[in-house]
Amino acid sequence: MGKADLHIHTTASDGRATPDEIVQLALQQNLKMIAVTDHDTIAGNLRAQKAAEGTDLEVIPGVEITTDYDGREVHLLAYFFDPGHQEIQKMLRGHKFARKKRAQWILQQLAQEGLDVTMNEVKAEANGSNLGRPHIAAVLVDKGYVASFKEAFIRYLSNEALGAIPNQYVSLSNVISVVKKAGGAAVLAHPGMMYSTEEMVQFVQEGIDGIEVLHPSHHYDLQKKVDEFAEQNQLIKTGGSDFHGSGEAYKKYFGVITINSNVVERMRKMTDQRKRLSV
Ligand code: AMP
Ligand code: ZN
Ligand code: FE
Ligand code: FE
Repeated sequence: MGKADLHIHTTASDGRATPDEIVQLALQQNLKMIAVTDHDTIAGNLRAQKAAEGTDLEVIPGVEITTDYDGREVHLLAYFFDPGHQEIQKMLRGHKFARKKRAQWILQQLAQEGLDVTMNEVKAEANGSNLGRPHIAAVLVDKGYVASFKEAFIRYLSNEALGAIPNQYVSLSNVISVVKKAGGAAVLAHPGMMYSTEEMVQFVQEGIDGIEVLHPSHHYDLQKKVDEFAEQNQLIKTGGSDFHGSGEAYKKYFGVITINSNVVERMRKMTDQRKRLSV
């Protein structure tokens, strides 16, 4: 038994800490297990697994996949899949391209509002990592269009501000099926404020194995609601910090939001069984 954080971003997507820094922080905070779950890439996770070799920390396979659900983007966490599985690799390669395409659409929309941001500027900001809106936000700040990252999202980049931006992500049901084929567990990310109970029932029918109960966006009542929903539907209950930060100012928030590693052991057992059945 120990502490685990199953939702962490690194510089492989839109986090600011490198995978190596995350491993150091997790060791300092005495965590037993972590999952690095970057947006649509496992590069940071694999790097963190290497960095944790020979230490008391276990880094389990993880990724936060953006899925398409009738034109809406639904975040799905996947754990314990085989990182070498062809289908999951192919899907993530497609998503890397889908992120670029979507960034282009967002830039076109910004241009219509008189904001000049180029793809090259966004790529320079992302520095090789999987593109996301936070990189566009950083360019908007750099160019003086907004005073802060927060303002960039409120005025231009939140789901509300953007409206329906087209996306080329794989559908939720297909992502769930690929994750399961790769021997992994499919977990709905941070559902608290995003979905109605009817939608969550739909997601259960689509085949999710678990649901993220503990997340910084869930205040007490939301957490209780998600917890009860998980109990009623026999879903695995996961949790994590959704950490994106680095530097002294953020370090003190790392290792604060954790779950019991027993949950991870149950998920490991379940996915081991799934892997045995699929061969
Ligand atoms: P993307 O992967 O391009 O869809 O961007 C999603 C990421 O943007 C999230 O993981 C957060 O890091 C960030 N994000 C999304 N919405 C907001 C918001 N309203 N305010 C600040 N950051 C946000
Ligand atoms: Zn993010
Ligand atoms: Fe997310
Ligand atoms: Fe996240």
